[in-house]
Amino acid sequence: MKSYRKELTFNLPVRRGLVNITEEVQKAIKESGIKEGLVLVNAMNITASVFINDDESGLHQDFEDWLEGLAPEKPYSRYRHNGFEDNADAHLKRTIMGREVVVAVTNGLLDFGTWEQIFYYEFDGKRKKRVLIKIIGE
Ligand code: ZN
Repeated sequence: MKSYRKELTFNLPVRRGLVNITEEVQKAIKESGIKEGLVLVNAMNITASVFINDDESGLHQDFEDWLEGLAPEKPYSRYRHNGFEDNADAHLKRTIMGREVVVAVTNGLLDFGTWEQIFYYEFDGKRKKRVLIKIIGE
């Protein structure tokens, strides 16, 4: 069995934002030389998520509105975590949207369902963060 590890780095100029990282993940699979196996992609920070869904801008705004309804960024005073930081909402949003995804690799390609794409979702940006890609197989 082979394995391959790669990190992606992000430094979004905004507090919250979505990045489609599907091509970067596919590129890592190609670099690995692995044809059959699994790829794990996870955010290496507790205020960012990696998730799979549709690359459609209306839906992306729906995610933003839904998350703001569940865990509004402001007022910062509504959260006990804040005071030390101002990013309690980002921790909560990350927990809802998830830490990682696992996708089957078949014949060297991401074996997706219809319209599936992989996204990095930043909830507390303007600083450097990492995403781990780990591929295992043969
Ligand atoms: Zn925090």
